[in-house]
Formats: sequence, structure tokens, C-alpha cells
Amino acid sequence: MLSVEEALQRVLAAGASPLRAAEEVELPLSLGRRLAAPLIAQEDQPPFHASAMDGYAVPWPGTDRLRVTREIGAGELSDVSLGQGECARIFTGAPVPPGAGAVVPQEQTERDGEVVRITAAVEPGQHIRPSGEHCRSGEPVLAAGTLLGPAQLGLAALLGYARVSLHSRPRVALLGSGDELVEPGIALGPAQIRNSNAYALEAQVAACGGVATRWPNLPDQLDRIAEALAQAAEQSDLIICCGGVSVGERDFMRAALESLGGEIDFWRVAMQPGKPVALARLGTTPVLLLPGNPVSCFVTFELFARPLLDRLAGGPGRGLTSQSLTLSEAVRRKPALRQFLRCRVDQARVTAFPAQSSHLFRGVAESDGLLVVPEGSGELAAGHQVDVLFWS
Ligand code: AMP
Ligand code: MG
Repeated sequence: MLSVEEALQRVLAAGASPLRAAEEVELPLSLGRRLAAPLIAQEDQPPFHASAMDGYAVPWPGTDRLRVTREIGAGELSDVSLGQGECARIFTGAPVPPGAGAVVPQEQTERDGEVVRITAAVEPGQHIRPSGEHCRSGEPVLAAGTLLGPAQLGLAALLGYARVSLHSRPRVALLGSGDELVEPGIALGPAQIRNSNAYALEAQVAACGGVATRWPNLPDQLDRIAEALAQAAEQSDLIICCGGVSVGERDFMRAALESLGGEIDFWRVAMQPGKPVALARLGTTPVLLLPGNPVSCFVTFELFARPLLDRLAGGPGRGLTSQSLTLSEAVRRKPALRQFLRCRVDQARVTAFPAQSSHLFRGVAESDGLLVVPEGSGELAAGHQVDVLFWS
């Protein structure tokens, strides 16, 4: 059986080829996406020497008593040099006039009509934001591949970009099968359960910057599954299947793929939950087959689909954030397979939930993330350091 690391490497290799061409997108719509081209400063920033304070722009070196000959507000330009013994009333963000060597905050002055007296020592250049301090015209500021969060988006605006060139968003088809599954909003019949995975998966894809198409739930029939897979492959960058990947006679996902000439890259990973996870390829489209148990489905998405989607969206293949934390209580699991336990984190101490069965999805929603118990480890005592993967 493959280790989690080997499986992840193979999954990322499936996303190595670039998606469709870059898209020009209005800046406000670019949140959560990655740049396809670097953002280069179009001008020096700040574009002019600006005052950092409300106060007085003064010559340096200068005298303690100066005559106020003008007033400069933000957005106003004063291009005549300060004369001998002159200063300018100035406000934060306004361009300092030629001949000014410093700005004195108004709290360090006394004003008497036209005359201002400076009451504190003045350093050359103080409270002036030099032009080009932030960046120079022509300087690459955000590299291609950068993920645009609110700060990066604001910086793009500061650089003057109304539109940006972005990697296209991966189109993901979500296919599931199960004769027992019923959509939320419809009364459960005997022996039926809710289709919850499709909705979690749709949201997980969106959270990773993909565009999900949730297909109607499929019956456990090989031909119907094969038909859906063939259609999905034509219109998607990635297919994610859920359920029907295990060893039961009614698990048709892998057989349906193979009936279409799809190739299974791997099936089964040394992990729990999620052991029956598989990677395949149908034509050029990668296919991730996730187990049907809701916890296993969610966890395998986060461990494999999340980094793959990041890679397909132009990123490095980023997964969940990991942190080393202290166990608050002993973990007595001694697993042969690597275990991912739903857990809570409180003040840098982590506690695994007592109930860890793969159908107990509530624990996913109530947890902060997954505590990783390495394969082959013995009992982990309280105080032990463990890795925790945080839900993003
Ligand atoms: P399977 O992999 O199809 O054998 O399914 C394993 C378990 O997961 C069974 O108990 C299924 O009822 C359940 N399951 C499969 N698909 C879903 C789904 N979309 N939502 C919730 N549970 C599911
Ligand atoms: Mg099933």
C-alpha cells in the first residue's frame, strides 16, 4: 500500500500540466485566485514626497520662527520653492513643496497668526514619506503564482491594476453513486440516508478556488456511472467521485472507469480514515476516487484534492496548514496505518475526540482539524508533540 506521501506525490504529478490559458479579470473578482503574470509597479510609490503628518513643511536646516506662506492639502500641489524663513501649513498625504527638508507635527509648534514657532528639535527628512520608498516604477512587486487575498488585492489596486491576469479556475465535476442516498429537503424512506458528501465536496471545491458541478446522484449501476464519467471527462479539469470505490459487489466506480479505458494510478493508501482512496486518469482528465463514508470523503479531499486543486490553479500544491502541538491526553491507538483523528485545540494543547468512526461526520464539523498519529507509533503519552492539520 502507498504511503500518504507517495500518494500525494502521484496526485500532484497528475496536476503538473497547466490548465487553460490565463484570464483577464476585474480586480474585485480576483479574490482567492492566483496571478498568471507578475504585477509590476507602473510608477514610483509613493509617486511624490508626501507629508506623514498634519503640521508644517519647513526648510532644513532652518530657524525656530517661520512665516506660514501657504497651505497644502492632500491632493493639492505647491510647486514653488519655500523662500528664506518660510514654511507651509501641510496635511497628511499632501506633497511637500520644493525647498522643504522636514515636516514638523503641529503638536510641536505654536501658532501666532502668520508666524509659527517650532518647539522641538527637527531631524532632516522627518515625517516625509520619500517618493519611491514603497516601490520603484518597473519593479516586480507581486510574483506570478501569488494567491490574491485581501492584502494582495489591495496592493494590486495601489499599483494601479483595474484588471489582472489570473490562472483559470479548475472545473471540477462531482460524481457520486449510492442507491440509498436522498437529497436534503426530501423525506427519508426506509433504509435511506442523506447525500451529505456531495454538498460538503461542493463547498470544499469552492473553498479551494475551483468551480464545482455537482451531478445528480447516480444509481449503483456500472453503465450509468460509466456514461456520467465519460461526459464529465469532456467538460472538466478534474473529476472527483465519491462512494463505490471499495471492494463490495456494488462498488462500480473503478470498474466503470476501466470500462472506458481509464487507468488506475493507485488504489488504497496506508491511512485511516480514507484507505480506499484512488487516483485514475480518464483520457487526460485526472480522477480522484474518494471513499463514501462521510468522514473519509472529507478527509481524503483535504489531504489530496486540496493540494491538487491548488496546483491546477497555478499554485505550488498547498495543503492544510500543519502545526506541532502538545497532546493534552494520551492517545492509545498504536496504528498500523497512519491515523488522522478529529481533534480540538485549546491554548496550544490538542485533544483527540473519543469517537472516531468514519460515519460520524458531526465530529468533522465540531473539530478544529486532524491530529496525525504516525503509522507504527506506540501509545502517545500526554505531553507528547504531535502534528495537527488545521481545517482552512
Ligand atoms: P461506499 O463507498 O459506496 O461503499 O459507501 C460507504 C458508506 O458511505 C456507506 O455507508 C454509504 O451509505 C456512505 N455514503 C456513500 N456516499 C455517500 C454520500 N454521498 N453521502 C453520505 N454518505 C455516503
Ligand atoms: Mg455505495
